[in-house]
Amino acid sequence: MIKKSIIITITVLLSISCVFAQPEKLNIALFFESSISSLVITPDSGSYVIFADSSIIKLNNRDILYLSIDKDSLNVKTLDKVVGKFKHVKISGIDKINIFKIKPSDPDLAQRTYTGDVSFTAKYSKIEIINHVKLDDYIAGVVETEGGPKAHIEFYRSQAIICRTYTFENIEKHTFEGFNLCDGVHCQAYKGRSTKNPQIIEATISTSGLVISDTSKKCITAAFHSNCGGRTENSGNVWLNSKPYLVSIDDTFCTNRRSAKWEKTILASEWKQYLERYGAKVPESNYSASFAFNQHSRAKEYTYNNVKILLKDIRYDWKLRSSFFSIVPQGDNLLFKGRGYGHGVGLCQEGAMQMAESGFKYKDIIKHYYTNVEILPIDSLKVFEPKIDLDLLKSE
Ligand SMILES: [Zn+2]
Ligand SMILES: [Zn+2]
Repeated sequence: MIKKSIIITITVLLSISCVFAQPEKLNIALFFESSISSLVITPDSGSYVIFADSSIIKLNNRDILYLSIDKDSLNVKTLDKVVGKFKHVKISGIDKINIFKIKPSDPDLAQRTYTGDVSFTAKYSKIEIINHVKLDDYIAGVVETEGGPKAHIEFYRSQAIICRTYTFENIEKHTFEGFNLCDGVHCQAYKGRSTKNPQIIEATISTSGLVISDTSKKCITAAFHSNCGGRTENSGNVWLNSKPYLVSIDDTFCTNRRSAKWEKTILASEWKQYLERYGAKVPESNYSASFAFNQHSRAKEYTYNNVKILLKDIRYDWKLRSSFFSIVPQGDNLLFKGRGYGHGVGLCQEGAMQMAESGFKYKDIIKHYYTNVEILPIDSLKVFEPKIDLDLLKSE
């Protein structure tokens, strides 16, 4: 009995006293989706100290470093000399702004530019690369990758708050591997520092620390997609868990944008075979007209003679741009007339871009797409949900 009371007290204390402290820097795994076995590092600006295992390497700031994997070590060379073999190499910037470039040579990938520090470790016959980067430098890089270089600053502000919310929500996603987030689509796409539009950095700094919270003061799952086609999707139609702030809303802002509409033609005979795989009974001939399907607003399923197929599954199986489509029979073909691009849940990027261009502010944009949310500084949110076991309390 005493033990139970102690557990409850500790849990309650944790839930009340802890707020989210904003980390100054994050550890991001770079080129995470590729197995890098050699690369070139070029300092761009700033001065660097290079730590290789326990020794410090003195190099001129403009020296280019070549790293390649050799079993469980890293071979390190400059243009004219061999530096040595090490397990771990860290390049640490000592100026206020330090910029460097990384160009993987095996496999041959495009060069990217980063700020902060970077460490290289020989791991499982590949080079693990970790960027130790300031939070908002990372956010700006993600906003540029996810939002493109040509949008309005209010769009960038809303995208920065979304990416920051995702970052805090997922900050422990790769803890067991020794870093916070990876740079691939598994986490958030990050292709290095933002360089293409100064408004991206301005938008990130002017919203620094802000995140989106639900009514219980927790970071939301800040889902977004390219274009909703005029109506966003309920999260429960796409994922197992539905969220009260990710509910379907009408969106008139995106319907004239680039990804508002799509079309695809599929053979009616192929569609017949597909439905039969789901157990549908389809006549041997003259079946095309029976496949007609009209989706005025978003539906959850396609129904054919009592066989129901989730639209999200049809989208996946046929590689469609969205699950928001109608089917128009045309002789032996079926014309799929679709709206939008992506899963449709949460913020519609093209609609948000249109709202920004029409004079709406980031708060209007975020509150249009996410229902009953607040935009708050991260350090005012709770880390832990109260974890009081009510049954346990009753038994006391
Ligand atoms: Zn990841
Ligand atoms: Zn939309």
